[in-house]
Amino acid sequence: MIRFSENHSLKQHNTFGIEARAKYFFEFTDVEDLSVFLNSNESIKEEKILVIGEGSNILFLNDFDGLVIHPNLPGIQVVKEDRQNIWLEVGAGEVWDEFVQYAVDYQLGGIENLSLIPGSVGAAPVQNIGAYGQEVGNVVEKVKGFDLSNNMLIEFSAEQCDFGYRSSIFKSKLKNSFIITSVVFRLEKFPEFVLNYGQVEEKAKEKGEVNLHSVRDAVIEIRQSKLPDVKDLGNAGSFFKNPEVDIEIAEKLKNQFENIPVYPTKPGKAKLAAGWLIEKPGWKGVREGDVGVHEKQALVLVNYGYSSGQEIFDFSEKIKQSVFEKFGVELESEVNCI
Ligand SMILES: Cc1cc2nc3c(=O)[nH]c(=O)nc-3n(C[C@H](O)[C@H](O)[C@H](O)COP(=O)(O)OP(=O)(O)OC[C@H]3O[C@@H](n4cnc5c(N)ncnc54)[C@H](O)[C@@H]3O)c2cc1C
Repeated sequence: MIRFSENHSLKQHNTFGIEARAKYFFEFTDVEDLSVFLNSNESIKEEKILVIGEGSNILFLNDFDGLVIHPNLPGIQVVKEDRQNIWLEVGAGEVWDEFVQYAVDYQLGGIENLSLIPGSVGAAPVQNIGAYGQEVGNVVEKVKGFDLSNNMLIEFSAEQCDFGYRSSIFKSKLKNSFIITSVVFRLEKFPEFVLNYGQVEEKAKEKGEVNLHSVRDAVIEIRQSKLPDVKDLGNAGSFFKNPEVDIEIAEKLKNQFENIPVYPTKPGKAKLAAGWLIEKPGWKGVREGDVGVHEKQALVLVNYGYSSGQEIFDFSEKIKQSVFEKFGVELESEVNCI
C-alpha cells in the first residue's frame, strides 16, 4: 500500500498535537514501493526530507516545506536462534510497545524495561531509546534501511550505529538521509532482570514472582503514575536530555546545592538530572497560555490544547535560560525540533 498526498495535515502524526502541514506526504508498506516512488519522481528528490514514525519525539515549529516519509513497514520474523538467544527482524512500522508485549509473551528478555515508550520500532534506534536501566542499543544486532544518498538498501552493525545516551548515527550524521526499514534484535531466552532503577523491583515483587510479565507491568504502572498519556495531553516525553558535565563542575554544584543528584558516568564526567534542575527554579506545574511543564514530571512539556509549536519552543528556551542562570548548565533538547 502506498499513500501520497499534498498539503497533508501532520496533526495526527505528532503527539504534541501541533497543527502543521507537509508539502508532500508519502507512506508505504513495502520497501520496493519507496524506491519505485523515488525513481519515478525526479523533482521530488530535490525536496527536503523528513522521516516520521509516530511523531512522539518531534516538535513542529512550522509547516514542513518538503517531503515527509512515513515507513509503515509491518512484520516480525525469527531470523535465527541458539540455546541462549533468539534474533527477530521487526519492520520499522511496528508499534514499539506492541513488540515489547510480543517479546514478553514469548518469554524473551532484554526490552521489558522499555515498556510503554511510545513510537515505532524504526525510530527506537534513532535516539537509542532507554528507560529504567535498559537501552535498545544493547539488544540491537543490525539496523537495515534505505540510503537516500544513493537509493540503496544497506545495513549497519550495532557498532556502526554508534549508540550513545539518546544518540546514534541516525540522529546525527544520517539524520533524514537514511530510512530505517527494519531492525534485528537479539533477545534472551534466560533474561537477567534489571531491577535497580526507581521502584521497578518493589513494584514487580508486589505482583508476585519477578518475571518478564511482572517487570513489564511494574514499569507500566510506574510510567502511568508519572507521565501524561498522549491521548489526553499533548507531549513528547522528556523534552530535555540529562546534561553531562565535567566532574569538577558537578562537585562545585554539589557544594552549592546540597541535594543535587549527580551520577558519575565515565572518568571525569557526571550526569545531572534535568528534571531536578528545572524543578528547582520553580518551573514544575507552571502554565503559560496553553503550554506548560507537567505537574508531576518537570522534564515533560505539555500542550494543553491549542498551543503552537513555536510557543512550546519559546517556552522551552525560557526554561533553558532560567536553568543556565541558576546553575550555569546548558540544557539540550531531546525532542527533534523541526
Ligand atoms: C509520553 C512519552 C514518554 C516517552 N518516554 C521515553 C523514554 O522513556 N525513553 C526514550 O528514550 N524516549 C521516550 N519518549 C520519546 C519517544 O517515544 C521515542 O523517541 C520514540 O522512539 C519515538 O518514536 P516515533 O516513532 O514516535 O519517532 P518520531 O517522533 O516520528 O521520530 C523521532 C526521530 O526519529 C526519526 N525517525 C523516525 N522513524 C524513522 C525511521 N524509520 N528511519 C529513520 N529515522 C526515523 C525522525 O526523523 C526523528 O528524527 C517518550 C515520548 C513520550 C510522548
